Amino acid sequence: MPAQAKGRIVGVAKCPYCDFDKLEVRVSEKNGFLYAYCPPEGDGGCKCQHFPRSVTSSRKLAKFIHTWRDAKDRAHWLGDKAPAKAAAPAKPPAKKETDAEPPAAKPGFFAKADKLLGLGDE
Ligand SMILES: [Zn+2]
Repeated sequence: MPAQAKGRIVGVAKCPYCDFDKLEVRVSEKNGFLYAYCPPEGDGGCKCQHFPRSVTSSRKLAKFIHTWRDAKDRAHWLGDKAPAKAAAPAKPPAKKETDAEPPAAKPGFFAKADKLLGLGDE
């Protein structure tokens, strides 16, 4: 696997240019479009690099996917819905108040509890 391949795999395709049918199609973390690297000739591929730069071309590549990892991705890339915003990378969820650190225990809290439970050495 190429070192630069790090996006999430959405499915496995047949290379549009050769008969290699284990082409891992990934979604770019950078731009949200699909991409794939066909392996070198010695590994059964043609070493073509597929870098769609639009939703339209990503969908063209998606049509070569024969095995999808997630039905949601399949619906997203092959569905009939308008592709608007499809390429925007997901934003991290806003931090909620419940994500805040719990308040620090007051000094002496546990010592007091230990004393009440008869665990202290006083
Ligand atoms: Zn190929």
